Parts: sequence; C-alpha cells; structure tokens
Amino acid sequence: MPQNFFVIGYFGCRNAGDDAILQSFVEWCRNKIPSVKITALSANPLGTEKNYGVGAVGKKQFFALLRTAASCDAVIFPGGSILQDITSLRSLMYYAGLVWCARLLRKRIFFLNQGVGPLRRTISLKITQRCASRWAQLFTVRDEDSLDLLRKTGVPHEKLFKAADITLMLKSHIPDLPVKTTDKKNDNRKKIGISLRPHAGLHNLTPRIAAALSKSASEPIEIHIIPLHEKEDAAPSINLLEKIKELHPELPVRCLTLKIDSRFKTQDSELSSTPLEILASIRELDLMIGMRLHSLVFSGICGVPFLGLSYDPKVKAFCEATSQPCLDLADDITGEEIATELNNVLQNANFFKEKLKSEIEEQYKALNCGMDIFLGKVTGEEIKFEVLGIPVSPLNFREVVSLLEGKIQSRESCHVVTLNPEMVMVSRTDEVFRKIITAADVIVPDGVGIRLAVRAKYGRKLGKTTGIELAEYFFSISRRKGIRIFMLGAKPAVIERCVAEFSRWTGPPIIAGYHHGYMRTEAEEKEAAAGINRSGADILFVGMGAPLQEKWIAKYRETLNVPVMIGVGGCFDVFSGTVQRAPGIFRALGLEWLHRIISQPRRIKRAAALPAFALLAVCDALRYRVKSIL
Ligand code: UDP
Repeated sequence: MPQNFFVIGYFGCRNAGDDAILQSFVEWCRNKIPSVKITALSANPLGTEKNYGVGAVGKKQFFALLRTAASCDAVIFPGGSILQDITSLRSLMYYAGLVWCARLLRKRIFFLNQGVGPLRRTISLKITQRCASRWAQLFTVRDEDSLDLLRKTGVPHEKLFKAADITLMLKSHIPDLPVKTTDKKNDNRKKIGISLRPHAGLHNLTPRIAAALSKSASEPIEIHIIPLHEKEDAAPSINLLEKIKELHPELPVRCLTLKIDSRFKTQDSELSSTPLEILASIRELDLMIGMRLHSLVFSGICGVPFLGLSYDPKVKAFCEATSQPCLDLADDITGEEIATELNNVLQNANFFKEKLKSEIEEQYKALNCGMDIFLGKVTGEEIKFEVLGIPVSPLNFREVVSLLEGKIQSRESCHVVTLNPEMVMVSRTDEVFRKIITAADVIVPDGVGIRLAVRAKYGRKLGKTTGIELAEYFFSISRRKGIRIFMLGAKPAVIERCVAEFSRWTGPPIIAGYHHGYMRTEAEEKEAAAGINRSGADILFVGMGAPLQEKWIAKYRETLNVPVMIGVGGCFDVFSGTVQRAPGIFRALGLEWLHRIISQPRRIKRAAALPAFALLAVCDALRYRVKSIL
C-alpha cells in the first residue's frame, strides 16, 4: 500500500545538520518503502523540493499545511530536537500545535531519533508529556538523557526506545564522496576543523580558541572553518578567521563555503553547502572542534576524532556517548584548557579514533533497530514471532535492556523468560510450564536453536539475548545506575562464591541480597521471598534452572515487590567460577550448548531433546511457509 508521509522538522533553514535529517529520512524511506510519497515542512519549500525530490509546504502556509496533514497517512518527526524550549517557547508551541491538529485529524504520529529537552517551563513539560505519552505511536530518542526525561514523565516503555541520530545514515555516502586533491607540499600539516555557532560567550571564546591553536601547534597545522548554518554561523566564523589572522598571520586558514574578500566581507548569496559537501570537507580533517551537534555527528561518521564545545546538553551527551572530550561553555573555559584538550586528542588520535569507531558502530545498530520498529508500526506489519506455539520477542538486546530499565524506573512488574529449545520441549508435556512462559512479559531467544527456528520460519535474523548476557549487563551497570540486584539460586557455597567474586570487581554491583536455590519447604521459599522484598531490589535473577525458576517466579510474582524478574539458569555457576563459560569461539558460533555437553557430560540426557526440537521446528517452519503461500 502506498504510504503518504508528512515529514516535519527544521528543514530548509539553511542548516546542513537539519537538512541532513531530511535527506537521511528520505533516502531510508525510498529504500524501505519504494512507493512512499513524502511532503516536508520547510522554510524554503522550493529549495527543499529541488534538493530532495519531495513535496514541500511552507511553515506559514496554514491552509496547505492543513491540507497536507489531512491527506497524509502519518505525521513523522524524523530527528532533531523538536521538543525543547531553550530556543523559544513559540517554536515548541508551533510544533505541538501541528501534532495536535494531526491528532484531531486522527493521523498516526511518530517521533523518531529525537533529542528531548531542555524543558525549563512547566507548560513545555506538559506539552512534551502529552505528545510523547498520548499522541505518539512511537517515540525513539537519540540519547540517554532524552530517554531518562521521557521515562520520568511516564511515557509507556512499549513505545519508547533509544535509537541514535538519523544523520548517521549518511555513512553510506562516504565511499562516493569526492576526494579533495591534496596539496602535496603541505600534506604533513594536521588539518583542524572548527564549527562555531552564535553564542553569548563567543566574544571571549573566539580569541581563546585562536590563541589555543598556536599553543597546540607542536606540529604544523592548518585550520578549516566549517559553518554548518549558512547564515547564522557566518559571523562567528568570520570573527574567528579575523582573530586567527591577527594573532598568527602565518597560520593557513580556510573557510568553507564563505568566499571572503581581503577585508573579510562576505555576501549572503555566495553561501551554499549541502550536507554531503560538508561531510566531504570534514572527511579531510584530522580533528574537529565543534559547537554544532552535526559537525560532531558528521565527524563521527567520517571517523574524525573531535573536541565538543557544549553550549547545549545535546552536545555533551553526544561527546559522552562517543567517548570524545568536551568542554562545557557554561564554565568559563580558558585558552589553556582548549589547548590541553586539543593536544590530548592530537597526541592520542588513534585511541580516540578507535573509541569513536566502535561507539558510532553501536549507535548505528541502535538507529537501524529503531527504524525497523518504526517500519513495522507504520506499515502495520508489527513483527510477531512464534516457535512451536511459544511467542518470541523481536526486540534485540539493546531494546530489551532499554525496556527493562524503564520497568525498573517505573517499578512495573516484568517477568523475562530466556527461552531455549529444551524449555520449548518441556512446555510440550508440562502444561503448567507452557502457560507460565506464554504469559511472561518478555520472551527472549537465549539459545541459538530458537533463533534458527525463527529464521527458518520467518526468514528474519534475530539478535541474541541470553540470560547470562542480560545478567552481565546489569551487574556491570548496577553501581553506575544505582540498580540493586538480588540473586536467587545455585548451591549455598556457589552463590556465596559468586558474591565474593563480584566484590573483587572495580565498581562492584550493588547486591541487595542473595539466597541459594535449594529451598526444601514452602516456609523456606516464603522466607526467601520476604528477604527479596526486604532488600528493596530492582531486579531479581533466579538461577535455579528451567522449569523450576519460571515456576518459582510465577508462584511468588504477586507477592514480590521487585519489578524485573529473570530466569537465568546456571548463570551463578559461571559467575562463581564453578563452571567454565563457553570460550569466545563457541559463543560466536552459537555452540554454547555443545560446550556445556563437553564440559558437563551428564547433560547429554537433556540434550537428547535437541534433535526432536530441530525436527519439529523444521516442520513448523514448512507448515507456516506453505500456509503463507496458499
Ligand atoms: N538449582 C537450584 N535449585 C534446584 C536445582 C538447581 O538452585 O533445586 C541450580 C543449580 O545449582 C544450578 C542451576 O540451578 O546453578 C541450574 O543450572 P542448569 O545449568 O541446569 O540450568 P540451565 O542453564 O540449563 O537452565
């Protein structure tokens, strides 16, 4: 079915970062939904139509706006920071007004890859809450702070996910970008890019940046000033250029897009640069110093390490998420501080590049997952998987973790089953167990067998989310995020060894309490449950093996006040060092089960269920595929 999208953002405002959002979204749509028709809100409708091949409607063309909203299938905000009141309350009211109209027209509304906040006024918070909780079908955010803010305002976890900045998708253009002809003579110069934007403290900051550039020049450098907003950034860029020329006339400086005469005068009409042109220029750099968020995101895409100058929390958040240094402009930063950070990045360039590469890769994965969820919702093909009658969650590891952190924050009860083929086979003869697992809130594929079965049946590749990886994750972030953990299961000596092991960690997890898993009487079980409640734990790992652990959780779930409960099998045996964890190669190949049989041959009897599972899963897949053809 053709889809007709009304896409809203700060487009056509001569800001390469904002236009990059539109370009990324349009390219993604054309790739995933070829029949899509897009109309974008734009401050320059003709330019937007010409540059991106979409329909466009002006911000003040109210009738055209209403007509577009009325005729579309969905209203989509694909990125940026729409819900914030730091620039002005008027802009927030304008966009909220559009959402409200779309809502009245019964349109589906999607906020994607958004940065949320700062929200300084109560009314802004209320509007945001309404947009996110009530009106939006899906809300994905680009950073942790936005996620926290929305969770605190009570946005349901089912529609809230952490994704990333959508412009990361421009990465696909990198191989096709024109390579600038390098000036061989000056090839040894380090190229430092600078992107400034208007800011109250710039008159102090500009001379300090100019001074810092000479101090950091232990090796020859050249400066590339890169304005991202053609109009707004021109003045700060020229001021910096003048200052550098004044302090170091010998330092080579270029200013992208601005044709500047000998008296540093520029004409508006001479300014022009598309997101891809800016990306091509940033790719040439060895280091970027940036105030504009998208100067840093583009550097991330190109693998160029950077120093963020944070005028807004979103800049700091991106620097933190990509492990790059950042100076907060709210502090009165000195030229020395800038020079020290610059030297640090230049001297440890490889370290920062490696960090950047892996963090951007992670963000890219998160972005794609978020867009997959959007695709499912907007096309009405919400993904639902089932293996031999047991539902399996389509969420990947990050999404599961994000969902569980949300449940912890709101203290909503959530039972997670980490499903493996053995459990599916037990459920075929144990009706009580089958009912318990099918009623669980989240069922993640723990064993490779489940993922293969989903692949055979639906042709979809599921991410791995094992119980042990979930446990490992929460143990590792427990102290940082203040998440209190209770461990229930394993032999008394094993669980104690486990606790002792954790205490040796740097930044040990917060163990709210623990109890072994060999409770012989009901009274003992009740006492363990009471202990869990007294501990005030946020998450309960039950490692008593399936189906015992799931049955225990189901029996005591109502009386427990711990929000998240996960069955994790023999996890504590591994953490305590009693049982060796499958080596990396076994894990990478999905052969943990083989390693367990080799290291614990008594498990061979249980493994006998695996061939039967494989056979049944193949029949299940064939049946499903034949049915979907007929
Ligand atoms: N266990 C327990 N209580 C019991 C039986 C078993 O706590 O009554 C523990 C056992 O000590 C082991 C875990 O449950 O730590 C079961 O591990 P297994 O490897 O069998 O579970 P799987 O990972 O295969 O689900």
